[in-house]
Amino acid sequence: MTSSAIREILKVTQQPEVISFAGGLPAPELFPLEEVRAASDRILAARGREALQYSTTEGDPGLREWIGARAGIGADHVQITSGSQQGLDLLARVLLDPGDVVLVEQPTYLGALQAMAPYGARFVEVLTDEDGIVPEALAEQLAHTEARALYTTPSFQNPTGRTLPRERRRALLEVTRRHGVTVIEDGPYNDLRFRGETLPTLFDLALAQADDPEEVHVVHLGSFSKVLAPGLRDAWVQAPRHVIERLVLAKQAADLHSPTLNQMIVLALVEDVLPRQVERLREVYGHRAGVMGRALQEHLPAGARVSDPDGGMFCWVELPGDVDTGALLPAAVARKVAYVPGQPFFAHGDGRRTLRLSFTSATDAQIRSGVAALGEVLAAAVG
Ligand code: PMP
Repeated sequence: MTSSAIREILKVTQQPEVISFAGGLPAPELFPLEEVRAASDRILAARGREALQYSTTEGDPGLREWIGARAGIGADHVQITSGSQQGLDLLARVLLDPGDVVLVEQPTYLGALQAMAPYGARFVEVLTDEDGIVPEALAEQLAHTEARALYTTPSFQNPTGRTLPRERRRALLEVTRRHGVTVIEDGPYNDLRFRGETLPTLFDLALAQADDPEEVHVVHLGSFSKVLAPGLRDAWVQAPRHVIERLVLAKQAADLHSPTLNQMIVLALVEDVLPRQVERLREVYGHRAGVMGRALQEHLPAGARVSDPDGGMFCWVELPGDVDTGALLPAAVARKVAYVPGQPFFAHGDGRRTLRLSFTSATDAQIRSGVAALGEVLAAAVG
């Protein structure tokens, strides 16, 4: 089944009676609606003409300053983008030549494949296990593949929910540095940890080792989509200045700058609202992940494997035997439950036995009944 066919089926899932674990959407009832409205009112009253005017391509100076300070770098190492999705597009534009090899996790974020493919990226998959990229497999590949970049989501990955442990982070950085490979680190879920100790980003670790942002071989994508609201389209890239300088030119050509008002709103929220919001999201998503995890243990057929995320929005199921989750989707939707088949997340089309579930947007009762129905559909197929 093609991704467009899957999209067609998933349209049905917007009907209210269907319990959808398919969408990668943050829980809308948790959006800081009142706070965004109040900030917007204040900004329009005090600085309305500035908020509605063109602004700089690099982004709001205060917002860049805040993002940079959090990462231990200056504002000049930060480019604001319209979502991380645009960051991926712009990075592909400035970093890749047609035919360049980009190493990606197996599986990886579908949107990254879609962003980089038009620039002629050749994707080579890196072996992963329940702890993400296997460093020995990466080293082995780099010994005989000349790669331009490695794209990775080390924390609470989309689609698997998996997280790369600290030691693997170090090993990944060491081997990519040795081979001159730029690491594109995607971190939209970083703050959404609901269990375990906070880990440094790859960018943090590389910066600590290099002591100079210009020496860092990691570019990091951050986003306010999952922690404030995706409709604001506010995100950023942090990188050495030689990358930022080229990103600015690409951004200027693409859309001149990200919306001025939205950046001002986000800046007004980062000090007070954002930390409270993150705390609330951790609490609610952690709870929902727990409910889903227990329901899956109870209802999935024997031999199925489920990821056990410490944060983020997703968990990942791998079924035993020769089943095709794409072909099974209509049967699940007929039982009023939806998921995303895993295959589109594989650069070369494997993963027919896998599927992605989002635990963010359903109530406890919906999670329990949806997973029970899903379990029956899957059990019938696995036999
Ligand atoms: N990267 C990953 C891994 C994602 O899951 C998403 C959103 N689904 C994005 C990037 C894009 O996010 P945004 O453009 O809203 O910042």
